[in-house]
Amino acid sequence: MTDQLEPMPDDWQRALAIVAHPDDLEYGCASAVAVWTDAGRHVSYLLVTRGEAGIDTLEPAKAGPVREREQRASAAVAGVTDVEFLDHTDGVIEYGLRLREELAAAIRRHRPELVITLNYEDTWGGSYWNTPDHRAVGRAVMDAVGDAGNRWIFPDTEAEPWNGVRWIAVAGSDTPTHAVDVTDGLERGVRSLLEHRAYIEALTDEAPEAYARTLIEGFAQQQAERFGGRPAVTFRLFGR
Ligand SMILES: [Zn+2]
Repeated sequence: MTDQLEPMPDDWQRALAIVAHPDDLEYGCASAVAVWTDAGRHVSYLLVTRGEAGIDTLEPAKAGPVREREQRASAAVAGVTDVEFLDHTDGVIEYGLRLREELAAAIRRHRPELVITLNYEDTWGGSYWNTPDHRAVGRAVMDAVGDAGNRWIFPDTEAEPWNGVRWIAVAGSDTPTHAVDVTDGLERGVRSLLEHRAYIEALTDEAPEAYARTLIEGFAQQQAERFGGRPAVTFRLFGR
């Protein structure tokens, strides 16, 4: 049995990462994004919500703007300045035609070769149940990539159909196939998670710096076993 991961493809220029919430890309993926943007690749982020239901001690009307600000700062650390938000309500995103059409429209506008999203399975592996928002968004991303390329599906979007997506990479997958060596992106991965400070401070009593470093370095080291000992961020890669 081989459990070695393949390196992620690097013959691409444009990626679009689509996730439900601020911070979804910062629990690991941002280290890989930093490596990619260093290499001159363009990565854009699309957040389906502003994560306004993510801070127990802060009401949504106040949390939304805070989390949007933190997300933009966090993206900038990884070399991403193109950050967009859709207006779905955090916690109750519905999989459906509205979401598929909005995502297809974004893919048509951005014309990415690589689309990135987050684990949409029922669990994170084992007994950790995934959230309904992650399940809805991830599955809609998988479907919207096909929709974006078909001129007869959602024909009223402003941008032309785009059938140029070559891969979809699912971060946080329990069954990864590919990995990125994040030796040079790890420090920015830590700092990008740390930008979600209001969120982290409400989440844990641990000092935010220690919390972010332990998590991001820990994930990357865990994956290293399957990637020649190099600290890694892993993806399940779907080709098209
Ligand atoms: Zn999330």
